[in-house]
Amino acid sequence: MNLYQQNHQPEPEIMIEKIHPKKRYIFASDFDQTLSFNDSGYVLAELLGISEAEFERKATGMAKLNLVQQGGELAYLLLHDPEFRSKVRPEHLYKAGKQVRLKPNIDLLYSFLSEEVEGYHFDFYVISAGPVEVIRSALEGVIPADHIYGTEFEYNKHGEIERILQVTAGYGKVAVIDQLLENLRTGPDRIVYVGDGSSDIHVMLHVNRRDGFTIAVSENKYLAPIAKRSVISDSALAILVPILEEVVGWDSHSIRNLFEAKGLLIQQWDKVQTDVLTIVPSVAPSEERADAAIAD
Ligand SMILES: [Mg+2]
Repeated sequence: MNLYQQNHQPEPEIMIEKIHPKKRYIFASDFDQTLSFNDSGYVLAELLGISEAEFERKATGMAKLNLVQQGGELAYLLLHDPEFRSKVRPEHLYKAGKQVRLKPNIDLLYSFLSEEVEGYHFDFYVISAGPVEVIRSALEGVIPADHIYGTEFEYNKHGEIERILQVTAGYGKVAVIDQLLENLRTGPDRIVYVGDGSSDIHVMLHVNRRDGFTIAVSENKYLAPIAKRSVISDSALAILVPILEEVVGWDSHSIRNLFEAKGLLIQQWDKVQTDVLTIVPSVAPSEERADAAIAD
């Protein structure tokens, strides 16, 4: 034993970590409809006195144009639509966050992933296409603000949106993931990404390609075939199940035990694989030609 060890006995916990270092992962999650029940854009529009139908018309119109990254429609409207731009101020974004209906157990998901899975530590990040003020307000006291990435605006002295600083929709999410990998010096195979919608396609393809793990929390027809696993639940804690199974390697018995130790019961657990097909009558080539002749 050398002099250093004689004089400075390390704490037992630190010693254990030195012998068996924890595997560190980045857990990155979308926000709207992944950690919440509704799109925060609807909540914000309502606060500004813009009807749901009107917001939907404008947002879907934007999405159809494919002018902005999928999921970035609200950011575009806030800056360029005269009605949105004239009405919205930072306090509306904060207030909208407080009205978002969060899925239950986000706090438990955070603590499980941070410290309760033996041998593993998951750094919890949220990457949303929504305005960062909305997401930070909605998750205030649950997820640290500096772990939340969203679309950022610059405001003028009247509190009006002057310009967009960064959009974290579509490919913008890939940029955040790459930045996190660099900052945390983690390998791309140590990423778990969770999302529900078309704004998550780029990032999921990117994470999969580099051996990370992806989870869809919806039956979105573009996303479900890309994600390595899908899980449908009203509780945010369900996201833990595919992570424990596929990343940590637990069986369903150990997972049930963990939930029960925390006073939670997995009441229903159906494992289904869904094939979605549309089957139509085939048209014989001769009929096709006949149709074409009539059309001419
Ligand atoms: Mg979403």
